[in-house]
Amino acid sequence: MRAMDIVFLGPPGAGKGTQAQRLAEELGIPQLSTGAVLRKAVADGTPVGLRAKAIMDAGGLVPDDVVADLIREALGGEAARGGVIFDGYPRNRAQAATLDGLLSSLGRKVDLAILVDLPEPVIVDRLSGRRSCPKDGLTYHLTGAPPKVAGACDRCGGPLVQRDDDRPETIRDRLRVYREQTSGIEDGYSSAKVLVRVDGTVGGPDDVYAAVRRAALAARAALSSSPPAGAPAAAKPAAKGKSPARRKPAAAKRKPAAKRKPVAKRKSVAKRKPVAKRRPVARKRKPARGKGRR
Ligand code: AMP
Repeated sequence: MRAMDIVFLGPPGAGKGTQAQRLAEELGIPQLSTGAVLRKAVADGTPVGLRAKAIMDAGGLVPDDVVADLIREALGGEAARGGVIFDGYPRNRAQAATLDGLLSSLGRKVDLAILVDLPEPVIVDRLSGRRSCPKDGLTYHLTGAPPKVAGACDRCGGPLVQRDDDRPETIRDRLRVYREQTSGIEDGYSSAKVLVRVDGTVGGPDDVYAAVRRAALAARAALSSSPPAGAPAAAKPAAKGKSPARRKPAAAKRKPAAKRKPVAKRKSVAKRKPVAKRRPVARKRKPARGKGRR
């Protein structure tokens, strides 16, 4: 089974987090939001959090080495074996190179880069109206995507908060940082032919998600019919020799259902069902025969 690694690009407030979260749920691939991990570190008062807080409050970028450690740790985890949806990473060229290197050491690469684009005035409105649940990480918008009960998280009922860096003065700084450091890294993904641009202004979040989903499913289909990224470690999970590698597309097509463990469990339950059904069917057949065919 091939891992699938996806990065979400775009300015702050473009809805990357919401879209990444939805895609993660649908594909069964974990979402890694560096911003969320850093905010948690700040809230927990860890050494990383203490180092990051002032920078985040000012709308700047946390040092590359700090974020690289988070990514390295996440990629080393069991949950990341089937791929990762990176949300908010990479944010500059150095981070993009780091990510390439880390994935390459696992025989993987960025398979899809989704750029959700939005003009700055829309971003300012979105960010200043954004509220989030510090416990669940779910995000809302005062007018665009309000919670069912004002000020409370739909999932846990806890109080929603405004992120410190979503205040107007910080928003301007974050947009400047995006313009100067992040915008442009999509060029590399464009050259690698993995970039898909999604217009964040078209319709609502569902419409944006429809485009995101289309891109992801197309990339997954392409992935299942292409050879692995080519790093030596790529041979680890699947290829033993040349001929099995040739057989991969067919095998990969069969496996997606089995890839998700809960589905695999359901499958075994499902296998029992026909047996259970057969009995009543067999019993029904007898009276049917007795009645004859009319
Ligand atoms: P986000 O939630 O993605 O908007 O991130 C919030 C803040 O966390 C950013 O403004 C940065 O200060 C910090 N941050 C998140 N991701 C990164 C990253 N990849 N590199 C550096 N800083 C980051």
